[in-house]
Amino acid sequence: MLRLSELKLDLSALPASAEGDAGDLGAAHPLVALRALAAQTLGVPDEQIAHLQVHKRSFDARSVQLRVVYVVDLALADPAQEAALLQRLAGRPHIQPSPDMRWHPPACAPAGWPARPELRPVVLGFGPCGLFAALALAQMGLKPLVLERGRPVRQRTADTWGLWRKQQLQPESNVQFGEGGAGLFSDGKLYSQIKDPRWLGRKVLQEFVAAGAPPEILYQAHPHIGTFRLVKVVQALREQIIALGGEIRFEQRVSALLLEPDLTDVPDLPDSTSLPDRAPPGSLPPVAAAPAPQALRLRGVRVHDQATGAETELPCERLVLALGHSARDTFAMLHDAGVALQAKAFSIGVRIEHPQSLIDRARWGRHADHPLLGAADYKLVHHARNGRVVYSFCMCPGGTVVAATSETGRVVTNGMSQYSRQERNANAGLVVAIEPRDFPQAFPDDSAAWEAAFGPQRGALYAQQAQALAERGQVHPLAGVVLQRDLEARAFVAGGSNYCAPGQRVDDLLAQRPTSAFGSVQPSYQPGVHPTDLARVLPDCVLQALREALPAFGKQIRGFDLPDAVLTGVETRTSSPLRIPRGDDYQSLNVRGLYPAGEGAGYAGGILSAAVDGIRVAEALACHALGQPAPA
Ligand code: FAD
Repeated sequence: MLRLSELKLDLSALPASAEGDAGDLGAAHPLVALRALAAQTLGVPDEQIAHLQVHKRSFDARSVQLRVVYVVDLALADPAQEAALLQRLAGRPHIQPSPDMRWHPPACAPAGWPARPELRPVVLGFGPCGLFAALALAQMGLKPLVLERGRPVRQRTADTWGLWRKQQLQPESNVQFGEGGAGLFSDGKLYSQIKDPRWLGRKVLQEFVAAGAPPEILYQAHPHIGTFRLVKVVQALREQIIALGGEIRFEQRVSALLLEPDLTDVPDLPDSTSLPDRAPPGSLPPVAAAPAPQALRLRGVRVHDQATGAETELPCERLVLALGHSARDTFAMLHDAGVALQAKAFSIGVRIEHPQSLIDRARWGRHADHPLLGAADYKLVHHARNGRVVYSFCMCPGGTVVAATSETGRVVTNGMSQYSRQERNANAGLVVAIEPRDFPQAFPDDSAAWEAAFGPQRGALYAQQAQALAERGQVHPLAGVVLQRDLEARAFVAGGSNYCAPGQRVDDLLAQRPTSAFGSVQPSYQPGVHPTDLARVLPDCVLQALREALPAFGKQIRGFDLPDAVLTGVETRTSSPLRIPRGDDYQSLNVRGLYPAGEGAGYAGGILSAAVDGIRVAEALACHALGQPAPA
């Protein structure tokens, strides 16, 4: 097979409602036109092309004519001719052999496996990372057991709507926690910029399609499936894991790791990694004095049944830790248990809303109403004079801003949309990157902030640890959580202390005055937005950077700094505030058998990259468990 890229065809020749005759093959044009162009590019007669399929399809709206840009895979009638052509056209980068995009499982468990129950791998969390780790493990015959703290999709949906409609938060079943993980109520964007030489992202999309997602996600340049379809896909994937011998237990929170010293290996840890001495189960750790690396080994987990309150111990030697970025109690538990953690950069800011029509006009110009184009998206970056980078994040065309907190007394924003993307407003996070070295400047780094975040006893202890680490020029691994919780609590108060969010018009933010009423753009966040001054919530460095970026973005997208555009806060859960470092073997740097994975561990950002990371970790775990070499 040959892969041809940069094949461009004008769309203007087609009637506005036209889809090509290629159906699931993804061509907007009649296949015969695409075949003719491919044949011309290769310098062969049309009839030589035995089969042609669209691999990717995107649009180029920059010229007067709207153009479709295709990447296609094709087979020639005479396969021997393909090699000859590739040799003859070797200098042409847009003509290549088609890559092998199939998934080749690196391991396969023998019948009757596992011989002992503790050999069965456990997956903590059933978000995209845990789900695809479990699916890959099940497909390799390892019959995983998934422990998810939240509830199954159906109950979780009702719980989540409870916050949006009735201002009632369920701390264990909400936008962040439950079957499908954080991205279940989302725009369902399914693309990422990760390096993926083994085409694992393709496997994820193919599994989604097999589970009921629309086939066009396989060829669209920026695929998305919207929230309702994602819910059905997740349920179908769950059934597949169970059919392959896996098991999924909901409302089961991993409350502790059962660890023992591993005398076989002493890890070499980077300086910035905090390693408090290991505490006995249930007690608080002593102050992190000397970060002597402790090599540990997993022998099980303690599980808290959310429904009954019962605690049980489950022996297991290998655990995929796919905990997501919002499980702050679990981060603290890992820290207390002596698992190596590092503070890491993340971003904070607001959600911005514009009329979608404004974005469509700016992005698509005269082609804005073409039915094939759909609602336009954007991606913006600005380097502010105060050294901060401001960028758009998780843009949701034709969607709504959603309440995304998982904690009582805190407000967090995010965005979602349906497959049709037909809501009136476009929204995106507008966030500013914050480095660990900034944490002390961005929030009051005193005992009170730690205690507000982690309670009096644990907070006071962590504050002492933070002080001890600061004296050595290091940042406490949980410092980012303190900043997040502080901002989210401020947002809760500024919004009226009832889960409404604080909001401000763009002209008021720029003029540094509070908003008293919204104008032509009405905020979509439910249960509601309270007009106020976002200076009550955000640190100065972030406000300064936003004030500089908005007019700059207005030059890239006309109208982006529209006076009536609405800013709603606070956007804090852009990525994990810490990393759980792992080695080349995908295991924690100091806990053998613990496989940190996905967004919460700092190895992914988004549904697709989290799912891909889940597959990679599952492959490594399976190879270790079965004594086989792991894929490169
Ligand atoms: P999560 O999805 O966070 O899953 C972690 C799971 O672990 C949770 O279900 C949690 O309940 C469980 N868990 C945590 N602690 C424990 C414990 N101790 N015991 C048992 N279970 C535990 N990304 C995109 O790519 N496209 C989008 O359009 C998009 N939209 C989004 C919209 C919203 C509203 C939100 C909140 C996020 C969105 N994201 C989007 C981000 C995306 O959802 C995340 O990047 C992704 O879900 C991360 O996957 P994960 O599996 O690593 O973690």
